Amino acid sequence: MRGMKMNAIAAAVIALACVGLSAQTAPPIRIHAARIVDGTGKVLTDSTIVVQGSKIASIERGGAATATYNLGALTVMPGMIDVHAHIGWHFGPDGRYQPRGASPAQEALYGAENAYVTLMAGFTTIQSPGQPSDVDLREAIARGVLPGPRILTSIRTFSENSGTPDQLRDKVRELKKEGADVIKIFASASIRDGGKQTMSDAQLQALCGEAKAQGMRTMVHAHSIESVTASVNAGCDQIEHGVLIDAPTLKLMADKGVYFDPNVGVVLQNYLANKAKFLGIGNYNEEGFAYMEKGLALNAAMIKQAVKTPNLKLVLGTDAVAGAHGHNANELVERVRQGNQKPMDAIISATSMSARSLRLDKTIGTLAPGYEADLIAVDGDPTADITAVTRVAFVMKGGKVFKHVPASTTRGASH
Ligand SMILES: [Zn+2]
Repeated sequence: MRGMKMNAIAAAVIALACVGLSAQTAPPIRIHAARIVDGTGKVLTDSTIVVQGSKIASIERGGAATATYNLGALTVMPGMIDVHAHIGWHFGPDGRYQPRGASPAQEALYGAENAYVTLMAGFTTIQSPGQPSDVDLREAIARGVLPGPRILTSIRTFSENSGTPDQLRDKVRELKKEGADVIKIFASASIRDGGKQTMSDAQLQALCGEAKAQGMRTMVHAHSIESVTASVNAGCDQIEHGVLIDAPTLKLMADKGVYFDPNVGVVLQNYLANKAKFLGIGNYNEEGFAYMEKGLALNAAMIKQAVKTPNLKLVLGTDAVAGAHGHNANELVERVRQGNQKPMDAIISATSMSARSLRLDKTIGTLAPGYEADLIAVDGDPTADITAVTRVAFVMKGGKVFKHVPASTTRGASH
């Protein structure tokens, strides 16, 4: 009996050792494609990305014959990054925008649905500015089972009514303790209310100054010239929207190294297409929609100017709200179409540049050895035809494949 018991223990120990061993030496996943766009501006042809565990181990020439995934004529590129997506916003059971009143279970499931369609659209990281339920969604996805992008969140947001400068500094420190990844600030009114500066310069200085002291990043909603200028001068890191700004304000951002996140391809188009689902709720009234109609032309002029501004750090954000999740890649298409941005520059913006803005540029946004294996394959050559980024046939995040469909099924998607 004793001998048998010892043997059983020995066998168990050996079995455990084998599990450990196989985890370490699991065969790499080899992904071959005719074309690889690395996210920094380089293009490789006929190459194989070798993935070990969650990371890229190497990128080798050739290798089609021994590939785990031979992606044929598809183009492989880094998983895209959306630095401004409201991942929790949804239409309710009646089909209308539901800003409040859903049960916690409903909120969780709508968030999971949004996360799923966002990942399937080729976005492997998003930043949400932000709601408390983002934290649970972020952690659930990070556990590695629920399909969704990596999530960074501000948890809450700051407006002119959030307190005195001293109170704001305290709240920044509290948010850091709660696990916020970024501080989100409203420095101006919504475009539906004209976009004027609402927060005082002293409030902006308190928020962006304290965030900097705590090693945290700031993103500031600002539409008007004054509100953007005040935010830049307060030392804030990134400006959202900027619908009403001009060439000197764009140059100011470039000179100060502030990231700019214009949203010209998804958010207003989505509001106008889904007008009936928003109308009558809060400032979603006829006047607000009239401002948004005008915003389309203002955005088109602004993005042309932004693309022409030397050294301006343009990141990729959609401001995706209810109805827009999964359509995030239209932002790149409209950058090129309306803003005359070069397709390669739009891709760099959505990958390595956005990773820099998140301070994750040593981890994601580039295809190179040592980076997380966040990569997608699109049907076509996005450096020649940017609409290819809306035809996502393959998605890997952290070394795990979440999507692999024949390229033919990516055509005619409802973008
Ligand atoms: Zn927003």
